[in-house]
Amino acid sequence: MDIAFIVDSNAGKLARWLRMMGYDTLFFNDIEDGRLVDMAMKEGRVVVTRDTQIAKRRVAANGSLRVIVSREDDPKQQLMQVMRELNLDCRETQFTRCLECNQRLIPREKDEVRDLVPPYVFRTQKQYMQCPSCSRVYWQGTHWQRMKKALDDIAAASSERNQGEKASPAI
Ligand SMILES: [Zn+2]
Repeated sequence: MDIAFIVDSNAGKLARWLRMMGYDTLFFNDIEDGRLVDMAMKEGRVVVTRDTQIAKRRVAANGSLRVIVSREDDPKQQLMQVMRELNLDCRETQFTRCLECNQRLIPREKDEVRDLVPPYVFRTQKQYMQCPSCSRVYWQGTHWQRMKKALDDIAAASSERNQGEKASPAI
């Protein structure tokens, strides 16, 4: 999966959702438009913003920079829009990145995380992933299941729309 993103500070929650999908996604709380555009150009990232000004820049107008201007407030709707516009379907890569720092997660053996997760989690979960940067451990608990369900719904709804059918996603 080669596509990578940079999310503008006006659409911050979307960054976590894109990372959940497995996409390399940069996000800065406070970044000046010029720096954001420079970084996107240099690293070949798609810009997602709610700011129409960025889309009016010359590099965006001439096609050297891909800018998606989101009309939506809700990060799930924003994600659906991004998937639709780029024709993405990436269900296999879900939950391969740290939601906090964008690093690729590393699979861990159960014994390796014994002291890092709550005892009830250790008793009930078999599969673990860990972020090499912040050491956060991920497992497939109820929170994970809720996120997975939301992503599956989004993927299903956007692929239906990609096929030109009328869909009304229940999210
Ligand atoms: Zn991390």
